[in-house]
Amino acid sequence: MASLVQPVHETETSSEMAQPQTLDGARVRTDFPILIHPAEPGRQSLIFLDSAASSQKPNVVIDALTAYYRDYNANIHRGVYHLSEVATTAFEDARKKIARFINAASPRECIFVRNTTEALNLVAQSWGRANLQPGDLVVFTEMEHHSNIVPWQMIAEERGARLAHVPITADGRLNLDRFDEILEEGPKLVAFTHVSNGLGTVNPAKEMIAKAHAAGAVVVLDGAQSTPHFAVDVQDLDCDFLSMSGHKMLGPMGAGVLYGKKSLLDAMPPYMGGGSMIRKVELGHTTWADVPAKFEAGTPSVGDSIGLGVAIDYLNELGMDRVWQHEQELGAYALDRMRELPGIVIYGPESAELRSGVVSFTLGDIHPHDVAAILDEQNIAVRAGHHCAQPLMRALGIVATTRASFYVYNTPEDVDRLVEGLYGVYRTMTGQPSPTMSSARVVPVSEKSDGDHAPCRAKWDAWNHTDEKQ
Ligand code: PMP
Repeated sequence: MASLVQPVHETETSSEMAQPQTLDGARVRTDFPILIHPAEPGRQSLIFLDSAASSQKPNVVIDALTAYYRDYNANIHRGVYHLSEVATTAFEDARKKIARFINAASPRECIFVRNTTEALNLVAQSWGRANLQPGDLVVFTEMEHHSNIVPWQMIAEERGARLAHVPITADGRLNLDRFDEILEEGPKLVAFTHVSNGLGTVNPAKEMIAKAHAAGAVVVLDGAQSTPHFAVDVQDLDCDFLSMSGHKMLGPMGAGVLYGKKSLLDAMPPYMGGGSMIRKVELGHTTWADVPAKFEAGTPSVGDSIGLGVAIDYLNELGMDRVWQHEQELGAYALDRMRELPGIVIYGPESAELRSGVVSFTLGDIHPHDVAAILDEQNIAVRAGHHCAQPLMRALGIVATTRASFYVYNTPEDVDRLVEGLYGVYRTMTGQPSPTMSSARVVPVSEKSDGDHAPCRAKWDAWNHTDEKQ
């Protein structure tokens, strides 16, 4: 893994001149104050491995938020005074940065929302209500996050539409043969995730979109786990809609994006009514503003959206190709090291090339929540649960996994700490000084009996009944 921490190699003349070929996670980490705080007394330094839920924020983003509130806080698009003009320009500049980042044909195709959930609900409620007829088919996949399932169920029920799903294969990829068969039924809409948050599987989006279009469907791509990690080009992919969550890509919470092709957005009715989205309001009738304003009713998250623009500047400086290479190298290293752990089951494709920097696993019959709780004692933050993907867990025959996810500020040393931490989990759970899985039972999690780790289990049960955020 030496390549990840190699010094800068300068190339000849391009604008990339001063940039390293590979990303140095240890250097990047110094830009993230939360990751370099001195450890609290009695605690080890923080190893943050839950970026798939929400990333940490670099100084430049934190400073941009502070600067907005300190120096030019004002409502936008409505003030005739200088402060409001400055805020409006900064907000619209952020939209332009986002459009460039995903290669949208125009900034007007980028609508500010809070997150992916809101983006997907917007499409379901606006496009779905206007276009779905009784009997129409809506397709999603078994590996979707709940936010790419529930909105379709809601609108399908309202419109009398039918639902179908693409199942997964045993190694956690989409079953593309079934996808082809479902397309023969002529679905009206196909929604799928670019990258699975529960498995790390990278789906062949371009090929799937082309096939769905050939079958006459509109395609919604959930970009929550792709846009933070590699270059996504909406024109090249030719998706009709794409969702983004800024908080997963170094930006503030509260700023996300819905990309939509302008022709589709123009034809869609508004999602919410109110200020900013109107052209003319009469007591009996209202006409709508053009996109994107038509879909941005009310006061937006101005500072957060500006912060997202700054996060995008930061990612661009790192270089999205380098970001992806870094994560794939870390992911491959993690797979290699973690496979040495006795009794481990790692979910998702075998090949590191088909995966993002997400490693979802179970350790013998040790409950994922116990794994995460014991890792937390070593200040290693991982996620455990169903990852808002209960149908996926059901398909895998389990209720939960522990998930480690890597991002720009992680290093091979973080992987080493994780692996050491997992040996510590064995020691704690088995009471053996030098644990091997011969001392821990290896059974599928689905066959687990209660009672082994009662205190954690009670906490787990209470928690598992909530639809935990991840
Ligand atoms: N889709 C995927 C693939 C996700 O990973 C997530 C968040 N974990 C979401 C949708 C929902 O994102 P948000 O909570 O930002 O709306």
